[in-house]
Amino acid sequence: MGVRTDFIWMDGAMVPWDQANVHVLTHTLHYGVGVFEGIRAYECTDGSSAVFRLNEHIERLLGSAKVMGMKVPFSHEQLAEACVETLRANKMTAGYIRPLIFIGSGEAMGVNPGPNPVRVAIAVWPWGAYLGAEALERGIRICTSSYTRHHVNVMMTKAKVAGNYVNSVLAKTEALADGYDEALLLDPTGYVAEGSGENVFIVKKGVIKTPPLTSILAGITRDSLITLAKELGYEVVEQLFTRDEVYMADEAFFSGTAAELTPIRELDRRVIGEGHAGPVAKALQAAFFKVVKGETPAYANWLRRYSL
Ligand code: PMP
Repeated sequence: MGVRTDFIWMDGAMVPWDQANVHVLTHTLHYGVGVFEGIRAYECTDGSSAVFRLNEHIERLLGSAKVMGMKVPFSHEQLAEACVETLRANKMTAGYIRPLIFIGSGEAMGVNPGPNPVRVAIAVWPWGAYLGAEALERGIRICTSSYTRHHVNVMMTKAKVAGNYVNSVLAKTEALADGYDEALLLDPTGYVAEGSGENVFIVKKGVIKTPPLTSILAGITRDSLITLAKELGYEVVEQLFTRDEVYMADEAFFSGTAAELTPIRELDRRVIGEGHAGPVAKALQAAFFKVVKGETPAYANWLRRYSL
């Protein structure tokens, strides 16, 4: 699926797609200091559309910028509104939203970003199931990565920084080259951390377990699933676990804005549970998709409704 649309929002204005360009001396292009988000908009059952947990995503985006010492020339509300405007400009009733705050060019090169301007772009594009439509039902095959997830004092793991994703790209491309769908990364002490772009959950005897917010990104889907699971009556624990605990789990699944809830059917050639989406994954998937489509009034505040 292509990413070409009509307009991209850049520094406060809607710019035709072809003209949304940057100079080759853009600081972020050389040193990776850019912060970004991945947000989804869904078509609701009542015919309107909604951006899922837009405020939480913008809050994380501005938090990432703060961690990196970037002074953002737009407010929370301006950025949130710009996301919706970009969807509308492209006549998109659903899709993926990618805000990127980056350091521009023209003033200085070298590691210190110096007086280069802090710039903002927001692109949108249609995006179906990230790991394939079939993956949402059948589950995916993954491997433990040969690459370790960042140490918390090597990279800022709570910030969604472009440079952090070099590690993700290495893990993802290695996994694909080896015939798997996705990678599972361990933290520097050897405990399970997360996927290249997803948080991870396991289920054993009805108890749901996910790694605590140590070296992982504080996923907004992760938070949503924990909330929904508790409401459905499941016990959820945030606790470190090892790869062999995943091998022995009844179920395992990834969560993320792009991946939504994707069951994991195999890790390192060990079949997990029954080898397809288990009952907990199915129940949570159903609850999650009801919420994003606006069918659960109790979670109306997770949705920023819009129409074209
Ligand atoms: N971990 C990493 C490394 C990610 O890139 C993502 C995707 N943003 C996630 C977890 C899941 O986060 P979220 O549910 O907020 O999309």
